[in-house]
Amino acid sequence: MLLYAIFVEKPFYATFVENSGGTDMTEYREGDRSRAICSVCGHIVSTTFALRDVPFDAGIGVVPNVLAAVCDNCGGVVAIPAQSTNAIARAHEALRG
Ligand SMILES: [Zn+2]
Repeated sequence: MLLYAIFVEKPFYATFVENSGGTDMTEYREGDRSRAICSVCGHIVSTTFALRDVPFDAGIGVVPNVLAAVCDNCGGVVAIPAQSTNAIARAHEALRG
């Protein structure tokens, strides 16, 4: 399930190892908890979903207010749930005009 690889510099491990609902249809909300592999911490961490401004991987522009899984350990964006990828695609198109 999931995700969308967006990161400026570091390799991006966008794989959740578990989620609260246990199905691919899970829709996350702010404050939901999950676990994922954080590329900064280098291991599985607990995450909390929150709205973040996420940079495009090209480093040009930012997608505002994307629901993302944020590492509880280092505060970095660990993963973007599939439900957020539509917003990202729209923002990308808007950016290109
Ligand atoms: Zn981390």
